[in-house]
Amino acid sequence: MNNYEYSVAERLMRYVQIDTQSDPASPTQPSTEKQKDLSRLLVTELKAIGIEDVELDEYGYVYATIPATVEKTVPVICFCAHVDTAPDCSGTGVKPTLHRAWDGSDIIFPDDSSVVLSKDQHPYLKERIGDDIITASGTTLLGADDKAGVAVIMDAAQYLMQHPEVPHGVIRILFTPDEEIGRGVNAVDMKKLAADFGYTLDGGERGHLEGETFSADGVTVTFHGISAHPGYAKDKLVNAVKIAGAFLDALPKNNWSPETTEGTTGFVHPVRIEGGAEQTSVQFIIRDFDTAKLVPYETRLKQIASDTIQHFPGARFDFEVKEQYRNMKEILDQHPHVMEFAAAAFRRAGLDPESRPVRGGTDGSRLSFMGLPCPNIFTGEMGIHSRQEYCSVQDMQKAVEVCVHLAQVVAE
Ligand SMILES: [Zn+2]
Repeated sequence: MNNYEYSVAERLMRYVQIDTQSDPASPTQPSTEKQKDLSRLLVTELKAIGIEDVELDEYGYVYATIPATVEKTVPVICFCAHVDTAPDCSGTGVKPTLHRAWDGSDIIFPDDSSVVLSKDQHPYLKERIGDDIITASGTTLLGADDKAGVAVIMDAAQYLMQHPEVPHGVIRILFTPDEEIGRGVNAVDMKKLAADFGYTLDGGERGHLEGETFSADGVTVTFHGISAHPGYAKDKLVNAVKIAGAFLDALPKNNWSPETTEGTTGFVHPVRIEGGAEQTSVQFIIRDFDTAKLVPYETRLKQIASDTIQHFPGARFDFEVKEQYRNMKEILDQHPHVMEFAAAAFRRAGLDPESRPVRGGTDGSRLSFMGLPCPNIFTGEMGIHSRQEYCSVQDMQKAVEVCVHLAQVVAE
């Protein structure tokens, strides 16, 4: 990609100024209409680089095709990124700032000087001294998660459209809404997508290639007490709020939780509690890399609930388990070439691929189980979901290079 003028930095800075925050409380698909503001711009820009087959559907998905440059049949790959930003932090009025050839000193944000980005708190920054770093201005997140991924795919598409001499098969592009609220692939039309395997561009550090995520269940434990007017409740009232309190207190304290685990150890994590004296429910997320370990967690959790209500005569509880997503490794292991192609592309771009299990899920976890094996590739997005979010331009450019190599590797 000698002499190529990358467009990825300008793209990121343009895209982050469009507010695309998703909303977990909204029942609609997409959860917020404003996500389509960016999607519509992407449609226009895809057409401007010469891609004819572009569509934005009513659910907020953008589908596009980079036509093949080789005659022979090669697998159809998909590059995927999400347009929404996390509800945890404001995404309104993002003012991107480019710190050219950053010298390693603390970045103090202009719109709120209490927000500081320092390499002491963000160790990866030490490796990025000298890079061009993009940040927001102190009052919002940046939105590099995942507009860096969007920008990388757009730039790779531009390069490939400008260089028909690069041999590759059909490449499908997919931009999704609502990833941050766990609904990113709910309405993807897999038939329409018609790809053999894919790659999400939604990872962090340069060189990271992620093919392993948590397996995840959600559990709701609902305690039913016996309600009575508190003025006349003697020997009648069984308070569900207190049952829930006793139940939470009975959970293991030195293990089992996100705050006491790391690496490849899973956890059981209460995330929400609601209710009153008559009925109180506690929601949990259950996580482990080994799907088979989820049931033992759930069995023990149920036992703790059952032991708890013994102290509250007349009380009962419901225990509901919902599957959320599964470790994509189970699928990727059946299609080892998907990771191998990516690793080969990393090496051609001069990178040593580093595969680490992700203590979370990606759109790719669910896509993998929907028939599209789909590991995750770095983009340079870091400090995500916070006002200190940042992204190295050179990392994004490296990711563009990886995508272009990947297209060729698959065609060889
Ligand atoms: Zn993301």
